[in-house]
Amino acid sequence: MMKGPQYAVLQKIRDGKKTYGITPRISGGFIKPDQLIHMAEVAKKYKGVIKITSGQRIAILGLEAEDVDKAWKDLGMEPGVLSAYSVKNVEMCPASFCKRSKQNSLKLGMRIEKRFYGAPTPNRTKIGVVGCRNSCTSAYAKDIAVIGDIEGYRVTVGGSAGFHPRLPDMIDEKLSEDEAYHMVEAVYEYYTKEAEMGEKLGHFIDKISFEKFKEDVMKIFQEKIKE
Ligand code: SF4
Repeated sequence: MMKGPQYAVLQKIRDGKKTYGITPRISGGFIKPDQLIHMAEVAKKYKGVIKITSGQRIAILGLEAEDVDKAWKDLGMEPGVLSAYSVKNVEMCPASFCKRSKQNSLKLGMRIEKRFYGAPTPNRTKIGVVGCRNSCTSAYAKDIAVIGDIEGYRVTVGGSAGFHPRLPDMIDEKLSEDEAYHMVEAVYEYYTKEAEMGEKLGHFIDKISFEKFKEDVMKIFQEKIKE
């Protein structure tokens, strides 16, 4: 079977014609005005359609196969998704720009994004980081969520709004910024070490029980905060 272009998603085939969509990395959904203009120019050059995605990114759709590599080169940006088996994206609310925020979660969100961008996982994994319990990016529906509250951060695991919806479990709360970061690390490390390939975090938790998951993750977390 002929492989399609790299870092591009095959779209619905119409009249035998294949077109592709590409989605560059836009950390936290923040993009500089000039970069946004540049993206629009590249989309225009290759007759692409621009789509704002639910994952706080901007996709260029409708590209011909032979234009995909050229479009990536012109964009000069990294792909948003490196593999189906990786951290897909870290979604963030505007936090410090929002009058309701209880924590300035953007700094923490960017730290998590930088650390986990493209990090390999047993199945695609979404992380959400928000400044208050309103959870504007639907953080509770993410595999891992960090949620600002009056007394610190809460971290939830196993949320999903996908094919098999699942409500998350709260692993801890009242965490400092640094503790919340290490909790995400601990969850990631345990999940990637113990789950089988193809297992979503929520399914893995259900398989071993949340009590066992929490107990084991807490041990890793305690070691991390001792360092
Ligand atoms: S989650 Fe809270 S802090 Fe973030 S945008 Fe929504 S209301 Fe504002």
